[in-house]
Amino acid sequence: MTPKVLGIEYDARSSFMRGPASAPDVVRRVLHAGSANYTTELGTNVDPSRWSDLGNLDLGEAPPLDARDQIITAVSEATADGSPLLSIGGDHFVTYPIVAALSQRYDDITIVHVDAHPDLYDELDGDRYSHACPFARIMESGHASRLLQFGIRTATAHQREQADRFGVEMHEVRTWDGSVPPLTGPVYISVDVDGLDPAYAPGVSHHEPGGLTMRQVLGIIHDVAQSEAQVIGADVVEINPERDIHDMTAMVGAKLVRELLGIMG
Ligand code: MN
Ligand code: MN
Repeated sequence: MTPKVLGIEYDARSSFMRGPASAPDVVRRVLHAGSANYTTELGTNVDPSRWSDLGNLDLGEAPPLDARDQIITAVSEATADGSPLLSIGGDHFVTYPIVAALSQRYDDITIVHVDAHPDLYDELDGDRYSHACPFARIMESGHASRLLQFGIRTATAHQREQADRFGVEMHEVRTWDGSVPPLTGPVYISVDVDGLDPAYAPGVSHHEPGGLTMRQVLGIIHDVAQSEAQVIGADVVEINPERDIHDMTAMVGAKLVRELLGIMG
């Protein structure tokens, strides 16, 4: 089934700095700029005739429950024919409604989550829909049955308790052996670009040194491709173009889009 791409222009749940709402068009511009071809490292051609671009969902300053419901509606419509969906964020709030929508169609979703942060806060600064909370909302709602995290290097005591409560497989950078456990069934991949070291991806709101290399993130994606899993959707979130240098991070995003499109469907 032909993958679809949806930009989500929404960063109103960001706790520190705005900017990711402008990422979808910046990533598209770099993706189509002509400096790179459209073949993935695994050899799949993902030129624009191989997927369908649905444009952007502009949510402006919508309050969180309104934004959630608009995203659920858009994702449900986009995936009603069984198409996999790749979204370009937006801040990490967007993953909660995306997975909520997919859970209406797929049982026992596994999430592969790349991030510096566990994003498991019950609430942050009084906001239960903060970009620091999506995986708490997903797991407590039963929208996913398994959550694997990579790139983590900021886990607080509260977030470790939350990880235990939800049975999260949290692979902290400090101790990760570089492998991805065996995966089966429907898999959703969520890449918060701050999971990479800021040396590779400076255009993010939260610089957290000590992160993953691009090579390691590509390795995770390729390991998922070589597993028994069916990739039903993915997102690339938290790119903040206002912090970027010479489109370095936009190009990271564009390459992630290519490699993810290549393993979907
Ligand atoms: Mn995140
Ligand atoms: Mn993060």
